[in-house]
This record gives sequence, C-alpha cells and structure tokens, in this order.
Amino acid sequence: MPNLELSRQQLREVLRRVTALSLEYLKNLDSRRIFPGVSGKDTTRKFDARLPERGLGMEALDSLRDVVRASRAQNGRFFGYVMGSGEPVAAFAELLAGVLNQNVTSWRSAPAAATIERTVVRWLAEAVGCKSFSGSLTGGGSSANLMGLAMAREAVGPANEAGAPRGIVYASSEAHMSIPKAVALLGLGRRNLRLIEVDSGMRMSPGKLEAAIRSDLKRGRRPLAVVATAGTVNTGTIDPLGEAAEIARRHELWFHVDGAYGGLAAIAAPEKFEGLSLADSVSLDPHKWLYTPLDCGCLLYRDRGAARNAFAHAGDYAKSLESGTIEAFTFFDESVELSRRFRALKLWLSLRFHGLEAFREAIRRDLAHARGLTERIAGEPRLELLAAGELSAVCFRYTGGKGRQGKTFSAKRLDERNRRILERVVRRGRVYLSNATIRGKFALRACFVNHRTSDADVEEIVREVLRAAGEAG
Ligand SMILES: *Cc1c(COP(=O)(O)O)cnc(C)c1O
Repeated sequence: MPNLELSRQQLREVLRRVTALSLEYLKNLDSRRIFPGVSGKDTTRKFDARLPERGLGMEALDSLRDVVRASRAQNGRFFGYVMGSGEPVAAFAELLAGVLNQNVTSWRSAPAAATIERTVVRWLAEAVGCKSFSGSLTGGGSSANLMGLAMAREAVGPANEAGAPRGIVYASSEAHMSIPKAVALLGLGRRNLRLIEVDSGMRMSPGKLEAAIRSDLKRGRRPLAVVATAGTVNTGTIDPLGEAAEIARRHELWFHVDGAYGGLAAIAAPEKFEGLSLADSVSLDPHKWLYTPLDCGCLLYRDRGAARNAFAHAGDYAKSLESGTIEAFTFFDESVELSRRFRALKLWLSLRFHGLEAFREAIRRDLAHARGLTERIAGEPRLELLAAGELSAVCFRYTGGKGRQGKTFSAKRLDERNRRILERVVRRGRVYLSNATIRGKFALRACFVNHRTSDADVEEIVREVLRAAGEAG
C-alpha cells in the first residue's frame, strides 16, 4: 500500500526503537571505541545499498544499529578538532523540532520558533557581553563568517546592486580557513586577504596590521574589514581584540570577530575577551562550546540595518523595518537562508534545563583540564609542549627526552614519529586527538570542549601517547 502515513502503533514502534537505540548508545558511550573499527570498504558495503523500490518497513530500522556501530563515540576522551560533546537534553529536543517541522523564515510562518530563536540569540549576546546585538542561528561558524563578511562588504564597499566587489580584508595568519573561503565566495578574491603575521604568542600583531592597512591605502587600495579571531583553531589564541577594534575604527573598517571556537568561553572567562563588544559582527558556535548537538552556529551583529542591507532584496528591507511589529519579523531579510530549521529549540531547552551556571562551570572545567594537561606535559621529560593558548587547545609532541643514550631525533624524524603516534593513539580506541602544525612542527593536539571529560580522562591522554610511542618504536 503506497501510503506514507503510519498507524499509531507503527509510530510508537518507530519511536520506541529510535529512543531505545539512543539510550543504549549513551549508556555504553564511555566503553565504546572512540573511532569505530571500520574501513571505508566496510562502510560502503554496509550502507551503500540499492534504493528499495518497495519499502522495508520496520526492517529498515535494523540497520540503525550498524550506523551507531560505525560512528565515532563522543565520550569524555574525545579531544579532536573543536568538537562539542552533544548534550542529550538538546539532542532529544531535536526529535521534537523535527516532528514540528517549523519553517523559521519569519514569525508568521513559525510564531513560537521565531520568538525562541530571537530569545536564545539575545541570551547568547548578553552572555558574551554583547548585550544590544541581534543575530540569527546558522549552520555553523563558516556560514556565520560568510554572513559577517557579506555585511562588511555591503557596509563598506557596496556591491549587491552593481557587482564588482572590491576591498581588502585583514586577518591573522592563524585565521580559520573559512575566512579565505568567505573572501573567495564574496568575489573579493583571496589575493585581497592580507594574512597578518602573528607575534611570539601567536596573536595578530597590531603594529603589522596597522602597517598593512597603511601600505594598502598608499597604493590606492580600499581596506574593508579586519577579522580578529577569538580562539584560533590551532592553539586557542585570542587576538588583541581591543587594539584590532581601535585600528578598524580609526580607518572606518568593519570589525568582525571569529569566535566560533572561543567566543562562548566569554561566559566563563570574560576578562579574556575585552574588546569583543566593540565588534560589528561576531561568529559563535554553540555546537562547539555550549555542547549543543550539530548543527548550531550563530552570527551576532550590532546593527540590524546592516544585516538587512546585505541580505534583504533591494527595496524590501526598508518596508519590513518600518512595520516593526513582532509579527512582521523576518529572518530571511537578515540571513542568506530562507527555509530554516528550528535550531533554537535544542539550545533553548538545554539552557533552561541546566541553567547558565552549569554551562559556565563546564567551560571552566574545560579550561582547567587544558591547564592540567599543560602541567602534566611540563612534568614529563618525554613530551614537549609546543603551544597552549589562553583557552583549551594544547599542542605537544613526543620527543622521547634525552634518554640514556642522549639520542635526539632530527626534525623530520620527529614529525614522522609523531604522525605515527597519532595514528596509533586513535587506533588504540581510548583517546581521540587531532594534529596541528606549530611553527612548522607536527603537533599532537588536544582540545577540551567536552562536558563529559573527567580528570582521569585528561591523565589518559599522556598515558595513551606514551603507550602509542612505545608501540610505534
Ligand atoms: C570551527 C571554526 C570555524 C568554522 O565553524 P564551523 O561551525 O565548523 O563551520 C571558524 N572559525 C574557527 C576559529 C573555528 O574554530
């Protein structure tokens, strides 16, 4: 019977099986291999099947078990990339958000969802010290950066109508790859992105920023925007936000802060983020440091008019601003997206369930775990600390110390050795680390944005690296 409707009993059965599997996953999370023991061939064989012409019915659900089995385990020993741990209240809210299937284009099409999204955006803005900012939720930091720079372009060198965008964007050499991507997509051209050198602390040098802007002005180029990073992806370094803001202001440039990794840590350590509120736009990623399940990014901006200038169809924006009532509110005039899912529900429920204090504490624990690992590395002669910014990313490597033979490895051999150690650590299945390049050196990297991590899990990083080093010979 070709009918997509389910009986009540079938609905209950689908729901029961999905929730049972979810609960089982969470129950066994800690003992699961952090990376599943599967190859590309295995996953292709399991999942790359022929699309059935006739439905399998409940039998289709059987393979969900294989999906769980071939997934990475987001337990307390996952330290790769900048990967939030996935708070379960939020995860279950996603189920309801999917069932409600609201299209959050505007208040009219989703009264509750639009109001809840505006509320959580306001909460986030206040929580990071950008009280009067507006904004919207996005698929992640990359879209938020793209939208922030689209606003910058339209505010400083308008090109929406006539095309031919022009202007120079400044960011540090440690900026995230989404910045050159945005510059390319906006038609500004990657050649017009100046990557400013960092100082010995990996921070964008204000002197070099100022010099680069002056040099472009002298050559008749048009500077457009300064992008500071609040938490670089490699080392968690925060650029000098106040000084960068001041330089941008003096030259009448847009000031965007990429806080996708670190911005939300302002909830726990506001003193590290002085100058954040001077930004014209700020990217945040709740799916990183608020532990929200993917996806949930956020762009905040000071001036809604600038968002409408960039994203509303010419002529329309003035109209919608004028009407000004709650019911007339539209997200699509302030975003690249039209159809938008109900991202806010998970964040709203999770924040209300636990309260801001619980998140502040969890972020503080992440910061403390990073310091703990740094100290542990300092006390272990076989390991060398390569970088540890103010936040929660720690880069280090195995050197073997100067053993009895006084043997030291060449730079190339050390890189190669640590690459093998990383592979082994991941294959051993207890701890997940990623890597970074720090001043040309291959580094093991642990990043703490994980509400499940315990002190014992931090200790296990060192133990697993030393074990892997032993095995790698
Ligand atoms: C993760 C990250 C991004 C990109 O965010 P996505 O959510 O992965 O799109 C941008 N900038 C920084 C500093 C990041 O850490």
